[in-house]
Amino acid sequence: MTRPRFNRILLKLSGEALMGEGAFGIDPATTARLAGEIKAAREAGHEICIVVGGGNIFRGLAAAAKGFDRTSADYMGMLATVMNALAMQNALEDIGVDTRVLSAIPMATVSEPYIRRRAVRHMEKGRVVIFAAGTGNPFFTTDTAAALRAAEMSCNALFKGTSVDGIYDADPKKVAGATRYERVSFQQVLSDDLKVMDASAVALCRDNNIPIVVFNIREQGNLTRVLDGQGTATIVQN
Ligand code: UDP
Repeated sequence: MTRPRFNRILLKLSGEALMGEGAFGIDPATTARLAGEIKAAREAGHEICIVVGGGNIFRGLAAAAKGFDRTSADYMGMLATVMNALAMQNALEDIGVDTRVLSAIPMATVSEPYIRRRAVRHMEKGRVVIFAAGTGNPFFTTDTAAALRAAEMSCNALFKGTSVDGIYDADPKKVAGATRYERVSFQQVLSDDLKVMDASAVALCRDNNIPIVVFNIREQGNLTRVLDGQGTATIVQN
């Protein structure tokens, strides 16, 4: 079974993807490697915009469980994503990839404000656009931000880069013999509570007919392979 080739995609990078082997923060060798993957995909002709998470630095829900006010904690989480966005921008520009950071929380000194038309224009000019600060609203996640920006930017797919090569019927790191789905419906993801993205992000992709492609971002060259419909991944579709 072949998967389609995708031209314009939104790549969701969780904060954890930037940690490397560490347990917290940003690992420069890892951001450099990710930047290399993105550059290769750009050079292969794909248009890429990115939503970065913040879980490697701060998560609102976890902080609220320890007594923080949830709204303030979520804003802190969104600020964490801005740090990650700047780290990715640096890594990309170090290897000559034109990049713009657009933040949903205006922060004029370090980034441009998120304005959809401006983001579209940047992409038309071949730049990699990094969306920071999630949706700009507490009580959301960067998964939902990724689905929202993918719809706004008319992306052909949302690529979720993880440390496993797709969606399994059980956690492959814990259950021997767990099997990977090649293709799965949005409905099954929601009804079986398959751990892909949070339910509001999945529902937003379903309603806007944006396939979600789950793949291993740690494998060298995999982003470009999967963009071309090759390599191992799971596609979630209607
Ligand atoms: N966040 C938020 N609104 C958004 C996106 C993110 O409040 O639209 C906050 C939330 O507290 C979240 C944190 O930012 O825990 C970091 O984002 P997320 O947990 O989605 O990052 P990831 O798990 O992808 O690293």
